[in-house]
Amino acid sequence: MDAPPDRTLTGQALRTAAAALARLPQASPRLEAELLLTEATGWPRARLVAWPEAPLTPTAAAHFAALLTRRLAGEPIAYIRGRQAFWTLDLRVTPDTLIPRPETELLVEIALELPTPDRPRLIADLGTGSGAIAAAVAVERPAWRIVAGDRSAAALAIAQSNFRTLGLAHCVPLRGDWLAPIARGALDLILANPPYIAAADPHLVQGDLPFEPLTALAAGPDGLDAIRDITADAMRCLRPGGLLAIEHGFAQAEAVRALFNDQGLINPETRRDLAGQDRVTLGWAPPGDCGSIGSEPENIAMP
Ligand code: GLN
Repeated sequence: MDAPPDRTLTGQALRTAAAALARLPQASPRLEAELLLTEATGWPRARLVAWPEAPLTPTAAAHFAALLTRRLAGEPIAYIRGRQAFWTLDLRVTPDTLIPRPETELLVEIALELPTPDRPRLIADLGTGSGAIAAAVAVERPAWRIVAGDRSAAALAIAQSNFRTLGLAHCVPLRGDWLAPIARGALDLILANPPYIAAADPHLVQGDLPFEPLTALAAGPDGLDAIRDITADAMRCLRPGGLLAIEHGFAQAEAVRALFNDQGLINPETRRDLAGQDRVTLGWAPPGDCGSIGSEPENIAMP
């Protein structure tokens, strides 16, 4: 098919955009070009690939150019599209929420290791942001109730919209500081991807991070302020035999295990992410008289 001379063709637009995007550090040029063109045209990616000679309308070409300019200025692709893939889900994200990272799926995997998946449990995702962890666990565990906590009302609104779109009525948004709104002994499992970057860390001004909420990234001089707060209150909120699992930086594992030990959490262990980096530390509240989390009858009290 011959296009009018002033019309840009799909394949040509993708090639030009990918070449420009290759200058960005940490970009996936071809993938990002396809995602932005999908956004600009409303066409599925498969169509862009299968039909490179399709001409773009002038409106779509202008929209694509505008999106490309934003991306070349460093704006994260997730915020430009307003979407991010996580686990099996496609989530809404905005600059009020951290962009969910693939390494955070490790927290979901750990939650799914708990025995007797069909038994009702009450769990919490602290600092839920877009609600990514809560939603991923919720789609896999319909019998659980998942409290999705955040101190940011703007973030909670995004989490709530994701839960609603995905039909996850068993995810319950809760406004508050870490575990403060949670009742004593209420939880079987606490999951958190808190801020853990040191305030002076140069990574904060690189890649996507300058566009993300600083309160979701940085946590004091050693990056451990939030993890200290959560760990200090975890034993109060966990049921006997309950589990705490926290994501942290690759060099923080020993310090986090020490915090767990200080608080009386037992058998702290660190798991590595797919890149082989220490990423999540977990530890257990001591079992009560009636055994561990895997063997105990349920008595869930909502906070
Ligand atoms: N893993 C993120 C990063 O280093 C940080 C997320 C966080 O602080 N929770 O880019």
